[in-house]
Amino acid sequence: MKKFLLSFTLIFSSLVYALPVTVTLENEQAVVVPASELGTLAENHHHKSTYCGGFVSSFVGEVFTTPAQQKTAAFLNYSINRKNLVNKLLVQVSEPRLLSNIVWFSSYPTRYYLSASGIQAMKDLASRWQGMVKHLSFAKVELFKHKNFKQPSVVVTLQGVTDDVIIVGGHGDSINTDSDKTDAISPGADDNASGISVVTEVLQILVKNDYRPQNTIKFMAYAAEEVGLLGSMDISGQYADKAVNVIGVIQFDGTNFKGSKDLTMALIKDGTNQEQNSFLGNLIDTYLQVPWRYDSCGYACSDSYSWTYRGYPASFPAESRVKEENTRIHTANDTLAVSQNNAIHAVNFAKLGLAYVIELDK
Ligand SMILES: [Zn+2]
Repeated sequence: MKKFLLSFTLIFSSLVYALPVTVTLENEQAVVVPASELGTLAENHHHKSTYCGGFVSSFVGEVFTTPAQQKTAAFLNYSINRKNLVNKLLVQVSEPRLLSNIVWFSSYPTRYYLSASGIQAMKDLASRWQGMVKHLSFAKVELFKHKNFKQPSVVVTLQGVTDDVIIVGGHGDSINTDSDKTDAISPGADDNASGISVVTEVLQILVKNDYRPQNTIKFMAYAAEEVGLLGSMDISGQYADKAVNVIGVIQFDGTNFKGSKDLTMALIKDGTNQEQNSFLGNLIDTYLQVPWRYDSCGYACSDSYSWTYRGYPASFPAESRVKEENTRIHTANDTLAVSQNNAIHAVNFAKLGLAYVIELDK
């Protein structure tokens, strides 16, 4: 019985592995490759640029939903007027807790989307998030299963008074682009255990303070970002199909490497929403008072692109200018040692995430 199950699993996963995938590159060129080639494609692409993503993959036969009409600032409230509450929450951001969550999530040998440990890591993250919200009647945690590959995404929902949705997310997978092996070591401490730790910290502090949202707030750990935004393209496509009214998305992808001496954050201009980016700039000036600039990251550089593609307002505050990005990402050396074994830089991103949720949630 066991043997039968094992061989069935092997056949099933090799079938998935051979499924044809359309990959869209920066120059809008589309190529069709078997899913097994996605790792190699990521290798080739990531060797040319230091950033995540960089191309969009979709399984052949899967139709991307036509982008919804971009929501404009006229319909959204970007006022900043909940200072007492925001400041009360910001002082609770804990560097030791951020650090311990990065230590934990980067302890898997790899979180590559095809690896056993990459699948287990997402299930374990769901259990951790479940433990944080289990006493709340308005909260739920789901493994979001993807049809064409086994690594699930994870979604926490804090149901609000309305069904309008605010999303705080980051990708959970990692990759080692120096190797073809699906189990090659890739701790992904900065990329992107640090982003998942920030998402966790925002959730933790809202829950600890018994925050009851007006809008519905979702916390997402996306599967398979490194091989062409597979998880977030699937989720955002399903949301667009169901006409879910997502009023704002913030993406955390790399939060703990201070690559730019003169900056704390770079707001990515391309593949994001300019009105919401201005709002984030105002939040940084009001609550963090740290130096920031706009920067560009190139085509489809993180999951924020998936939401933008569907017509939803998304932003991506990055840990440094793109040209000063952490050169260890996508290797076996993306470890906490590169960030001096502390999470001081990530504290800024957890604060921004909290300020963003509270000031948008009206
Ligand atoms: Zn990343």
